[in-house]
Amino acid sequence: MTRKASMQAAGGASMDPRFHGLWAVTAGAAPAPRPLDHDLGVDVAVVGGGYTGLSTALHLAESGEVSVAVLEARDIGFGASGRNAGLVNAGAWLPPDELPARLGDDYGNRLLETLGNAPDLVFEIIRRYGIACEAVRNGNLHCAVGAAGLADINERARQWHARGVPVCILDAKETARLVGSERFSGAMLDPRAGTIQPLSYARGLAQAAAGLGARIHAATAVTRAEYGATGWRLSTSTGHVVRATRVVVATNTAQEAGPDPWPQLQKALVRLPYFNVATAPLPAELSQRILPQGHGAWDTCKVLSSFRKDAAGRLVYGSVGDVSDRPGDAHVQWVRRCLRRLDPDLARVPIEHRWYGWIDITATHLPYLYQPGPNAWAIFGYNGRGIGPGTVFGRALAELLLGRRTPDQMPLPVNAVVPIGFKPLREVFYRSGSKVAHLLSKRF
Ligand SMILES: Cc1cc2nc3c(=O)[nH]c(=O)nc-3n(C[C@H](O)[C@H](O)[C@H](O)COP(=O)(O)OP(=O)(O)OC[C@H]3O[C@@H](n4cnc5c(N)ncnc54)[C@H](O)[C@@H]3O)c2cc1C
Repeated sequence: MTRKASMQAAGGASMDPRFHGLWAVTAGAAPAPRPLDHDLGVDVAVVGGGYTGLSTALHLAESGEVSVAVLEARDIGFGASGRNAGLVNAGAWLPPDELPARLGDDYGNRLLETLGNAPDLVFEIIRRYGIACEAVRNGNLHCAVGAAGLADINERARQWHARGVPVCILDAKETARLVGSERFSGAMLDPRAGTIQPLSYARGLAQAAAGLGARIHAATAVTRAEYGATGWRLSTSTGHVVRATRVVVATNTAQEAGPDPWPQLQKALVRLPYFNVATAPLPAELSQRILPQGHGAWDTCKVLSSFRKDAAGRLVYGSVGDVSDRPGDAHVQWVRRCLRRLDPDLARVPIEHRWYGWIDITATHLPYLYQPGPNAWAIFGYNGRGIGPGTVFGRALAELLLGRRTPDQMPLPVNAVVPIGFKPLREVFYRSGSKVAHLLSKRF
C-alpha cells in the first residue's frame, strides 16, 4: 500500500503509518475533521485534540454550563494520544514516595491519589459512553530484570502497600506463567491498570464530547494567541478566529503542528522518541502462551521495553528510539532478538507495523500546571504516562474553569515549572543513545 493509500485507510487526513501504525488501521472511524470555516465565539477554547484537551472538553460539555470548542492542528489523536502503547497505568513513573518527596506532602499525596485513581476514570468513561477501544482491565505487570529489577519492584510494592494499595509481587514462576516467558526474575502486578486501543479511546472521547455539544475542529492549528479587553483571540491556520473568555493549552510537545503560540512550554520539555512495532496476530497456541490473560507489561531496564497484545492477538512491543521503515533498522533488529529470547516461536511471526512518537520528559519527571496568561491553563509533561493522567487532569481543568475548584485545589502547584537544560543535546543523546544501546544490547 502506498503511504497516501494507508493514510486514507487510516481514516484521518493526516494519520500516517510512520506515526500511528497499527492503531490507525484498527481504530474506529475518525470523526469528520470539520476544519473551522467561520469565526467563532465560545466560553472555552481547548487547543489540542489529545486526551488532555478532549477530557477537558468532555467534562465541560457534561456540565452543560459553558460552550466549548476543541481546536486540533491535525487529526484527533494525531499526537502521543494516537501513538502510545495503550498501557493504562496508575501512579507516575516515579516510585510513590518520590511524589511527596519532590512536591511536599500536601501536593505530593494529592497527586499520588489523583494518579492512583486515574484508571478508574478512564475505564468509567469508556463504559459510560460505550467507547469501543479494546479495553481490558486485568492489571499490568512491571517485570523485573535481574536482582536490581527485583529490588526496584519490591521497594515500589512496599511503598504502595504502606498506602493501602493492593499491588502484588509475583515470583519468577508466576511471572513466567503470566508473561509466557522465563526471562524475568519477578513482577509487580498492579490490579488498577489495564490496556486500551489508544487512538480509539481518543476518537471515542471526541465523539462523546461532540455528542454533548462540544465543537471539535481538526485541521485547525492555533497559530497566535492574544489576550485583550474582551478576552482571548486565537488566530488559526484556517484564517478564521476564535474568541474565548478561557483557554486550555493541551498541545503537549506541539510536534508538527506549525507555529507554536506557547513556545515557553517547550522550554520545560525534552522530547524522547519511543517506538512500537506490532507483529501479525500470533497463532492461537502461541497466543495462549504469551500474556495469556491480556496483561500489559513493561520492564525495569533503563532503556525500557513495553509489550502487550491487541484484541486480534498481535504482540505490540516498544522501546526508546525513532524506528524507521528502512530494512535492517537497528531498533527492529533488536526487537526481533528480544522476541526470539522471550519465546523462540515468536521469531517466526512477521512484524507488520512500526511507528513512533515523542514522550515529553521534564526536569522533575513530574507534570506541570502552568498559567500562560489570564484565564488560560496548561497541564503537560507526563513523562510517558499520560492516558490516565491526561484524562484526570482534563477533568480537573474542567472543574477549575467551572469554578468548582480553586487553583490551589488542583493536583499540582501552579507555575512550579523548571526549565530543562541542554535540550538539543539531550534530544540528540536520546535518539542516538537508544540506537547505540539497541545495536549493542545483549541483555535479552
Ligand atoms: C510512543 C509512546 C508510547 C506511550 N505509551 C504510553 C502508555 O503506554 N501509557 C500511557 O499512559 N502513556 C503513554 N505515553 C504517553 C501518552 O501517550 C501521552 O502522555 C498523552 O497522550 C499526552 O496527551 P496530551 O493530550 O497531553 O497530548 P497529545 O496527545 O500529544 O495531544 C496534543 C495535541 O495538540 C495538537 N497541537 C499541538 N500544537 C497545536 C496548535 N498550535 N494548535 C492546535 N493543535 C495543536 C497536536 O497535533 C496533538 O494532537 C506514550 C507516548 C508515546 C509517544
